[in-house]
Amino acid sequence: MYARHRFGYIWRVSSTSNTDAVFVPRVGAHVGSSGGVSKAIGRAREIGANCLQIFASAPQQWRSPAHPDAEVEAFRDGVREHDLAPVYLHAVYLLNPAGPDAELREKSVRSMREYLSWGERLGVSGVVIHLGSSNNTTPEEAAANLCRSLDAALQEPSSVPLLLETSAGTRNSMGSSFAAIGSLLKQLDAGQRAGVCVDTAHIWAAGYDIATPEGLQRTLDEFETEIGLEKLALMHANDSKVPLGAARDRHENIGEGYIGTAGWQVLLSHPALRAKPWVMETPGPARKGPDAAQVALLRQLWSGGSPALNS
Ligand SMILES: [Zn+2]
Ligand SMILES: [Zn+2]
Repeated sequence: MYARHRFGYIWRVSSTSNTDAVFVPRVGAHVGSSGGVSKAIGRAREIGANCLQIFASAPQQWRSPAHPDAEVEAFRDGVREHDLAPVYLHAVYLLNPAGPDAELREKSVRSMREYLSWGERLGVSGVVIHLGSSNNTTPEEAAANLCRSLDAALQEPSSVPLLLETSAGTRNSMGSSFAAIGSLLKQLDAGQRAGVCVDTAHIWAAGYDIATPEGLQRTLDEFETEIGLEKLALMHANDSKVPLGAARDRHENIGEGYIGTAGWQVLLSHPALRAKPWVMETPGPARKGPDAAQVALLRQLWSGGSPALNS
């Protein structure tokens, strides 16, 4: 049973009759794109995902994305044919658009621009980036660097939004508070082309209690005040291996971490979040990424069901 919905961005509404529109929840995962971006389509379908995220290039390298036209076309056709939108690109891990190293900032800008350009070609709904680290510079200097870098990246002619991912609050990391992200968005010249990706494991580690109804409401109220919920484009659905506020980035399988099954029921039933796309980056049972059971579990929790006792 799907609930009808009036919040957020509705990706697809299928009709059971002329008068009754039914919302289709978007539940998916980060899937591998090795061997070509079109390979991601089969990998997503295999696990029952109906939205997905990929890297456009090796995430630990600066090498530019390169995909033959036939691959790009096959990817776009696959997304359309199998109803897999929205799809996202996740930027490489090497970015530091905030730090004191000017050369590294320049490389980060170039990489973000390439991803925005490839994102346009691949027809994605956003490029997710990490905001980097202030390293040994002052928070003010780092915030100014970050703002300049993102504005430079957004010079790229592309209709794809840059999605700023919340961080876990590890030492010197940028973007671990909604206030910091909100103030950055307000300072950007091209702020209308930027949105936010909330990673549940990260905000939990950064001290936002999202596992109780009161805590989640407080969290979303703060998000609304500092950023605005209309900017919330994507949820990274990850449980956490570390307790609330532990400031470490350690993803766990849904329901198996400190957010827990009860926490996921709270998260997935909140009216401001239900219509968002949920993309998992969990380790999975075999440490090879989320499997069909993980996707099914998240979908079941979204529907208000209890997890099946089959493990
Ligand atoms: Zn990320
Ligand atoms: Zn993470």
